[in-house]
Amino acid sequence: MGEQPTVKKSVMEEPIFEKGSSGRSGIDVPDPGGPVPIDAVLLREDLAGFPELSEPEVIRHYTRLSKLNFSAATNFYPLGSCTMKYNPVANETAAAMPGFAGLHPYAPDQHVQGALELVRELERWLAEICGLAAVTLQPAAGAQGELTGMKIIRAHHLACGYARKKVLIPASAHGTNPASANLCGYDSIVVPVDERGLVAAAAVEALLDEDVAALMVTNPNTLGLFEADIERIAKSVHQAGALVYMDGANMNALMGVAKPGHMGADVLQFNLHKTFSTPHGGGGPGAGPVAVRADLERFLPGPRVVERDGLYRWDYERPDSIGRVRSFYGNFGILVRAYTYMLACGGDGLGQTTRSAVLAANYLRARLSGVFHLPYQADSMHEVVFTDKFQNETGVKTLDIAKRLLDFGFHAPTIYFPLVVAGALMIEPTESESLETLDGFADALLAIAREAAETPDVPRNAPYETPLARLDETRAARSPVLAWSPKPAETA
Ligand SMILES: *Cc1c(COP(=O)(O)O)cnc(C)c1O
Repeated sequence: MGEQPTVKKSVMEEPIFEKGSSGRSGIDVPDPGGPVPIDAVLLREDLAGFPELSEPEVIRHYTRLSKLNFSAATNFYPLGSCTMKYNPVANETAAAMPGFAGLHPYAPDQHVQGALELVRELERWLAEICGLAAVTLQPAAGAQGELTGMKIIRAHHLACGYARKKVLIPASAHGTNPASANLCGYDSIVVPVDERGLVAAAAVEALLDEDVAALMVTNPNTLGLFEADIERIAKSVHQAGALVYMDGANMNALMGVAKPGHMGADVLQFNLHKTFSTPHGGGGPGAGPVAVRADLERFLPGPRVVERDGLYRWDYERPDSIGRVRSFYGNFGILVRAYTYMLACGGDGLGQTTRSAVLAANYLRARLSGVFHLPYQADSMHEVVFTDKFQNETGVKTLDIAKRLLDFGFHAPTIYFPLVVAGALMIEPTESESLETLDGFADALLAIAREAAETPDVPRNAPYETPLARLDETRAARSPVLAWSPKPAETA
């Protein structure tokens, strides 16, 4: 018998424009004999140049493409800093209700009382959760919430006579923080992180002067650690006439348990797409509501929902407002999803969510420490950061560990972030996962650590099970191919 030919499973899906053939169609119905022939109705001439395929070809193309996707709906997704929790189907059901999904943004107020009530109620819940007085739901993402918050801080200082020049930002901060401060016209000044992985009160105090507009602090920080000195820090910042901006992207470690407003925060953004279970990733819509203390309410973007004569109404009369930051009223469908999640959890349930998320992170920390290097010793909040220091001894790096995890069916953690940790592996399990999943993930990482010690080439050449292995890390960003274009032979 001759050698069996090896059939390589074709995993790459070529563009739909390279499939099908002329005259092929997904539609073939008898002509009902109307005034216009059915072909003229169905086969529009302005579609010339589009691919011609049968229905099964189209269905198979998109179904295969969808199977190349990795999401929180398919597997564990412990991408640190991103809170990739499971998104309950109930959220989608609520957002798809015709009374929400079919609304026109200019419908008269009296016809959309339910939607306006949802806006008010969601604002009220968020204010309660963070311990601040007023909330805008307009910003479309965390980063836009930061910019909105910084503009409010600038408006506050301008109203006091002087906008000031600088914003203090810890070295562990998310990159969007200095970007937002700069877009708002401020210089960002780096506050060092100490050996605990925290911002020390003395480090902030040494930098405070009358040109500092705000401290922009993330709590818990991007190392997953609670900023233990926050109350003293906030007091010093206020004494210098500056404000405390808290990046609330990590509220999955606080909600229902502790309130930033009680820690001295004056302005804060939420990331609804993280903490409150709306889908995110791939640049899809998000929501970054901003909460402020009472005296800053007048600066919030307009319009705002108010109650007048027994009705909810949009109020456009806001003379001190920083102005709109988003068309219409924000990503309304995302707001419906987040509000559904809150109602489904209830106030107690949100606290339970936080406790479970923190427990899961500390469980992984306990199972993996010793085998993976832990740069900071304090208890973790919602996420835990390890490094590749021990695996480096055989030349295995964070990137190799992350790639090898894909073969075990897990999304990789966030890697090489935060920047203050060399070779960081940042793991955020969230509250969604069962003990079996957490153990499966820990077992996979421990197995990879054994490979790193015994057969380092295995992780170094991983992954083996994915459609593509190691892609060029920078080419997609530097020379993106964003549109299909016909091959030269076809255009000739
Ligand atoms: C995710 C995140 C942001 C940015 O939020 P986007 O919605 O992606 O704009 C900002 N800060 C921290 C700490 C984050 O984790």
